[in-house]
Amino acid sequence: MNGPPPVNLLGKGGKGLRIHDLVKAPANTPWAKARQQSWDASEPATVYATPEVLPDGTPCSAVTVILRTKGCHWWWSSGCTFCGYFNDTRDDVTNDDLHAQWEAAKTKFDGFEGHDMIKVYTSGSLLEDREIPVEFQETVLRDCHELGKELIVESRCEQLTEEKLSWAVTINPSFSVAIGLEAYDDEVLRFHVNKGFTTSSWDRAVTNLQKFNLRVKTYLMFKPPFMSESDALTHSVRWIAAVAERSDEISVNPMNIQRGTVIDRLHRHNEYRPPWLWSLVEMIRLAHPSIHPEGGLNGEADQVSRLIVHPTAGGKVRGSHNCGQCDGEVVAAIERYAVSGSLNEFDGLSCSCQRTWETELTLERQLPLPLGISKPRRGPVLNALRSP
Ligand code: SF4
Ligand SMILES: [Zn+2]
Repeated sequence: MNGPPPVNLLGKGGKGLRIHDLVKAPANTPWAKARQQSWDASEPATVYATPEVLPDGTPCSAVTVILRTKGCHWWWSSGCTFCGYFNDTRDDVTNDDLHAQWEAAKTKFDGFEGHDMIKVYTSGSLLEDREIPVEFQETVLRDCHELGKELIVESRCEQLTEEKLSWAVTINPSFSVAIGLEAYDDEVLRFHVNKGFTTSSWDRAVTNLQKFNLRVKTYLMFKPPFMSESDALTHSVRWIAAVAERSDEISVNPMNIQRGTVIDRLHRHNEYRPPWLWSLVEMIRLAHPSIHPEGGLNGEADQVSRLIVHPTAGGKVRGSHNCGQCDGEVVAAIERYAVSGSLNEFDGLSCSCQRTWETELTLERQLPLPLGISKPRRGPVLNALRSP
């Protein structure tokens, strides 16, 4: 047989292969390395403006600045099972590069004139000194404060210590921190997500943030790997209820498949289907009482938190999807709910694929299988059944 011998776990009597290398190999493959070196370190990865709402509910425009960084220190040693941020990083980015990127972002949007909110994302944690030079952390905090902009940064839990936050608020006394918690469940964090922290680290981080009057945005993941659709639905509703009181905003990210990740391997092996959009609608219906116990709308007195669901790549096979016919309408209703907080957004939505979704959930509840039974295929059912 020609070509290199196939990779297998047993090897050929030589040094054993580590699971870590097999799973993480994509980040170190020639295609990934070449891609990383192709980025211009003085240009941000992306800068764009979107409609948003300020903490007091006023509509505004937000600029999102995604910086080209060294990436996340957790990824360097291990990494979350779904995280494809390594695709956008470059491991030699310097302090000067980051300042050049920040200036480029400001220039592109006229010094952020007319945009009240700035989201600064670093494919990791802005307040982590190993990833981002302290001088640059300071520039972002100071600039946004001096310009009077509402700042949102992302961070893992372990950086949010009293010491770090007390330093940060001397530069910018009011900003929001978005934490990728993914699941309020230690077993899921460890075995499904490989998050590298626990729910008690999140508890501690939130206590610290609240001590300094900083706002908390919590990201949860809908349907991490090795979880069926019906389990994802049950768990996500429970997680939303668990974090609602302590989060100013909860953003549920339905899984989308990013290149070169563990979830990408599962997806390619037909062992994972991204969530149904119908599951997201059902999750919102079931979680709504945790957000609005009196059945109110966003901005009304009974609001505990704000629930945002944004199906990235919604309607595509690598993102949350239904049958292909109804996807656009269902995604639009889910996005509208984030603004209004009204369940009426889902009135009148229906499609024949709802029956398939319901049947799958019923079957999964009766015969629990960790990988679920959903298939990410569309088209005629007979073709799907005939295919291998
Ligand atoms: S902590 Fe965040 S950036 Fe780091 S590997 Fe996990 S998802 Fe990716
Ligand atoms: Zn449909």
